Amino acid sequence: MNPIHISSTFDAGAIDVVSVADPQDIQLNIRRDNASDFAQWFYFCLHGAAGQPVRLNFMNAGQSAYPKGWAGYRVACSEDHQNWFRLDTDFDGEVMSVAFTPASNRVYLAYFEPYSHERHLDLIGSAGASEHVTLERLGSTLDGRDVTLLQITDAASTTPQAQKKKVWLIARQHPGETMAEWFVEGFLERLLDESDPVARVLLDQCVFYVVPNMNPDGAVRGNLRTNAAGANLNREWAAPSQETSPEVYAVRQKMLEVGVDLSLDAHGDEGMPYNFVVGTEGTPGWGPRRQALEEAFKTAWLAASPDFQTTHGYPRGGREEANMTLATNWIGQLFDCLAFTIEMPFKDNADLPDLQVGWNGERAKRLGASVLQPVLAVLAQLRS
Ligand SMILES: [Zn+2]
Repeated sequence: MNPIHISSTFDAGAIDVVSVADPQDIQLNIRRDNASDFAQWFYFCLHGAAGQPVRLNFMNAGQSAYPKGWAGYRVACSEDHQNWFRLDTDFDGEVMSVAFTPASNRVYLAYFEPYSHERHLDLIGSAGASEHVTLERLGSTLDGRDVTLLQITDAASTTPQAQKKKVWLIARQHPGETMAEWFVEGFLERLLDESDPVARVLLDQCVFYVVPNMNPDGAVRGNLRTNAAGANLNREWAAPSQETSPEVYAVRQKMLEVGVDLSLDAHGDEGMPYNFVVGTEGTPGWGPRRQALEEAFKTAWLAASPDFQTTHGYPRGGREEANMTLATNWIGQLFDCLAFTIEMPFKDNADLPDLQVGWNGERAKRLGASVLQPVLAVLAQLRS
């Protein structure tokens, strides 16, 4: 019999192995981000356990960044590194456990279906082949990777350039939220589909600025929430620095240069089993205009996709002061524009659950494609 072994030295791999001596008590610790205390993301390969019942115990789950994320959580698992399904877990408040019998001697487990750096490069490559796309390297990450922007419009359109709405979509400020880049992939596939009437109108009347991965270093390092320097990029927008948050610095500079009429920032939420958005209520410039835009956008998205909902979400900010270091608040305030943080679940959409796969890459892609409809619905009202 093969000895049981766990490896994680690959793109986005992350786990600390405590003990593999007893197949019924494989002890693991969820690894922290490389330069911060956030710990939630894991991704590893279990070898040598084909046909053998195993129990994996994540010993420190109760001390992770979002312990509430383990209630009702199901692990993403793949036997072929292509198709991911879910496994039930137990969580006693401290240890999160998964018991199953692998079919093969090489089975992958991850917090969520991964989105690899190679796929990220392929996405940019295939989108960049379109005549509508201009690629721009905005800057370097701390590890020397590229911060890549896709500028997308129909250059032959009759709409004067100055009248075109500037629509931004950024994703993976929090690198472990891989569903965010799956969302971008679905968005781009539809936007570049020459047969799609919504995409054709949008390309005629908008310039899209898309950053598929704001945090490639954190993604490759297997971090949940921070970049190589331990910076939580979605707390850096008020004052980004070249030293610790060059990714935000570069994207922010480009926004200041070209402007923003609509901003979408894609994320994942550990606890809530729903897709929802968070707007800019609570920012100083919040008022009836932005509120009406938000409502119109949400209404149109509800009509476009049953995977989107507005019943469940974060508690409303009301008159509380918004955190102006968040991308959405900073952008919405500075450009007085419609801006949303999009949250997708790590678990599943409880309104439309899929017991086999949970929320996954393919479903995030469909949601990303569906968001073109609400963009179209509010297009004429985006500028005051
Ligand atoms: Zn996030």
